[in-house]
Amino acid sequence: IKCIGVLTSGGDAPGMNAAIRAVTRSAIYNGFAVKGIMRGYKGLVFNEIVEFKSQSVSNIIQLGGTILKTARCQEFTTPEGRKAAHDNMAEAGIDALVVIGGDGSLTGAEIFAQEYNVPIVGLPGTIDNDLGGTDSTIGYDTALNTIMEAVDKLRDTASSHERLFFVEVMGHTAGYLALNSAIATGSEAAIIPEMETEVDQLAELINHGFRKSKNSAIVIVAENPKTGGATALAQRVKKEFPQYDARVTILGHIQRGGSPTAVDRILASRMGEAAIEAILDGQRNVMIGIRNGQIVYVPFAKAVKHNKGIDRGALDLVKILSI
Ligand code: ATP
Repeated sequence: IKCIGVLTSGGDAPGMNAAIRAVTRSAIYNGFAVKGIMRGYKGLVFNEIVEFKSQSVSNIIQLGGTILKTARCQEFTTPEGRKAAHDNMAEAGIDALVVIGGDGSLTGAEIFAQEYNVPIVGLPGTIDNDLGGTDSTIGYDTALNTIMEAVDKLRDTASSHERLFFVEVMGHTAGYLALNSAIATGSEAAIIPEMETEVDQLAELINHGFRKSKNSAIVIVAENPKTGGATALAQRVKKEFPQYDARVTILGHIQRGGSPTAVDRILASRMGEAAIEAILDGQRNVMIGIRNGQIVYVPFAKAVKHNKGIDRGALDLVKILSI
């Protein structure tokens, strides 16, 4: 292997730039050439590939978003699209890829690697923390902190007006952001997709959790297209418990932005370097993960199965601490 291509794909996440920097510099340090592929798989399919030097990644560790840009690429999901991608890759002299992205991006990587026997190493880049085999993903800590700051502000107005606030956060069918931001903000409850009994959760909150002595309550709700998320819940509360002044705040895309936290910069730097180590080590078709502080290799098939499960203890913690 002489030349490594790096790309970011799917939803952007803070810390992707720190990862691009670490991949680029570790590769160059180890004698590889590096090429940056623009706009995820689109750049492979449509041949937007640029030479990367050490200076190409100067001064980006602190930046949110991704300097390589990101995109969803329909063409890459077809055999013709992937053939074009492989032809362009070969022409550019790229013989291994580092793909930074979420489960969709790693699914695409797995299919591409099987079809063309290309060595690919993945890095978990998503705020949702919804990848298997890793305790955390790049961007998750920053998003948690962004949610925490926003909810702290909402708490001021919630308590001044004695209101019940439903705050909808991202998570893409996973409840990590909702659950852990609920702990970090001292929220009264977290409604997460892993717990299917949303009705029961809400009734319990209203009947037990929302004590008379509390003058405000904040409920963090994970986005959930199946149930309608915070908006649908608030509507039900208004109907069934009209005595509460229920409001909804949907945090939206601000959760994906901002300068990465120290935790995410360090995670991205370690994982980026580990991706190059993995290639040197002859590993292929694995995602770099972190378990109990140690770098691990996670086969793509395991990584894209989000089955880490929700920590019951964390759910109980929200309940215990909100009495
Ligand atoms: P996030 O979790 O932040 O949404 P993601 O990586 O899951 O990020 P997706 O939009 O699901 O984002 O996937 C990114 C890209 O990966 C797609 O636009 C497509 O090009 C490629 N991809 C996804 N699934 C497949 C697949 N089954 N086959 C080939 N390519 C795929």
